[in-house]
Amino acid sequence: MSWSSPGGPGRLAGDGAVVARAPAKVNVHLAVGPLRSDGFHELRTVYLAVSLFDTVTVRPGDGLSLTVTGEGTTGSGADAVPTDRRNLVWRAAELLAEQAGVPADAAITIDKSIPAAAGLAGGSADAAAALVALDALWGTHATRGELTALAARLGSDVPFSLLGGVALGSGRGEQLSPVLARRRWDWVLGIAGEGLSTPVVYAELDRLRAAGRVPDGGELSAPDPVIAALRSGPVPALAAALGNDLQPPALSLRPDLRRALRAATSAGAVGALVSGSGPTVAALAEDEDSAVRLTAALAGEGVYRTVRAVHGPVPGARLVG
Ligand code: ATP
Repeated sequence: MSWSSPGGPGRLAGDGAVVARAPAKVNVHLAVGPLRSDGFHELRTVYLAVSLFDTVTVRPGDGLSLTVTGEGTTGSGADAVPTDRRNLVWRAAELLAEQAGVPADAAITIDKSIPAAAGLAGGSADAAAALVALDALWGTHATRGELTALAARLGSDVPFSLLGGVALGSGRGEQLSPVLARRRWDWVLGIAGEGLSTPVVYAELDRLRAAGRVPDGGELSAPDPVIAALRSGPVPALAAALGNDLQPPALSLRPDLRRALRAATSAGAVGALVSGSGPTVAALAEDEDSAVRLTAALAGEGVYRTVRAVHGPVPGARLVG
């Protein structure tokens, strides 16, 4: 990897702050293959970046420090957001500094709107935003390709959080091909009370497969129908093509999600699925007005902790201001 020599700080506000934000994602198609020898599953997924953003602010500092604020931080157990080296942002900072040969000096604040452990790739969004912000703060001038390579080392979803839009992901999800989507898609995200741990959901999938209770994943279902529908619609075509192999294990671990899915379709969603490893339910709306009505209806149901209308595709991690 070639790095240009540090060229001094990038875009700085008055107090030396650099701000970046990155979006949440919904997997509109998620096919999971059998467990590989490296402990990962082979995936074929279609990511859609949606308009729920975390913001990462970085300032000059002495060593690394990390503060986490915002509504996406509440919870315990799988929901808990660490503020030390276990945070993906901390690892992103160390990795960028090491690769660029600069000291890892920054005071970092993550303002979380994306709930943790919700299947929305909040941690990945934070890592992607941190890479972009710190590259500017430290003047490391990494190319997008270099940042993407670092992103892939941090986690399977981090490259997509950088790229945004719509993309087909393979491998662990980190090998991306952008997909053209000509229209806007409106969704309502129903965020359940407590988070689900992604490794626990994969382990439950393996268990259900070993017991013969779900198909073994030997043949990954093709993403073509979802890609064709995403390109131009109509909305019911996308609804019919939605699919997530992690939905059965998420439902097995959290049976209350069945009610949450039913509530979405009864309230007028054209289709609904569990997002990634859950427990967020992504409900597809006919258009923006329908999404507003659906949000109000679902907020009154009491099956979700939070209900948010979002749309996609939106761009990936970007500097703000
Ligand atoms: P995915 O959809 O990519 O599987 P997720 O949205 O379900 O992920 P995240 O919000 O990314 O889950 O967080 C998963 C776990 O990662 C959390 O339980 C937390 O312990 C840890 N974590 C590390 N860094 C962060 C971060 N910046 N924000 C949230 N969680 C983080």
